[in-house]
Amino acid sequence: MELTSDEARAHYDAVRDVLAGTVVGLDFDGTLSPVVDDPEAARLHPGAPGALLELAEVVRAVAVITGRPARQAIAMGDLDALGNAMLDRGAELFVFGQYGNERWSATEQRIRSPRPPAGLASFERELPSVLRRAGAPDAFIEEKGLAVAVHTRRMDDPSGAFDRLVKPIAALAERHHLTTEPGRNVIEVRSGEMHKGRAVRTFVAEQEAAGVVFGGDDLGDVEAFEAVRSLRSEGLPGLVVCSASHEQPDLVRLADVVVDGPAGMVDLLGALVRRP
Ligand SMILES: [Mg+2]
Repeated sequence: MELTSDEARAHYDAVRDVLAGTVVGLDFDGTLSPVVDDPEAARLHPGAPGALLELAEVVRAVAVITGRPARQAIAMGDLDALGNAMLDRGAELFVFGQYGNERWSATEQRIRSPRPPAGLASFERELPSVLRRAGAPDAFIEEKGLAVAVHTRRMDDPSGAFDRLVKPIAALAERHHLTTEPGRNVIEVRSGEMHKGRAVRTFVAEQEAAGVVFGGDDLGDVEAFEAVRSLRSEGLPGLVVCSASHEQPDLVRLADVVVDGPAGMVDLLGALVRRP
């Protein structure tokens, strides 16, 4: 674990002082689960369930905050069983899926989600012709209910196709008042109204949290990092953890602690709950 400055050490200590009232938000891919070539093969780091169970004994609540549909993250992380075990230890597990558009909790055991954003249906109707014009008619379209993802990883030239598609898809999304989130050989299109920063703020408010920790690794986590920093400027102890599985200078700049991928995240969560 590498605290980036004395100030970061002070934030770490401030959160530890209010641990019983603290909520912990964690991204899934690259943060709790190692990044793998096939996103469908992602699983929790083997140390993660144990670390989350230990965390459950000392904090108020834990949330997995992910771009994935909640159903997928729950299945991949076996979060149903983990959530029950965490409840036994005194903390609720939440899953905020699709950047907070969907929510699930270990107590409720069902996924609540709002209607798809206006514009998504017409975006989807026009998408195939945009793919064709960009020379990528074979890109895989994944309908996620509240979002659409265009994958190029199974194509002959995944990064070339990705590069050709980013701009035209962003332009089409903008015409339908939607936002794009480019990832690794995937371009996701969704409502711009929901992002992980809002999910973090909602989580903190609903739990009447006395402190907040958020860990993430990718550009989709920037708003959550910023939310913790702005809550902190409003007086709430907060800690921003960057899981640096690959270089993301924008995220490192906003973080108090940089850990080495999911293994480092597991270590950090362990250190946080251990008595000094
Ligand atoms: Mg991630």
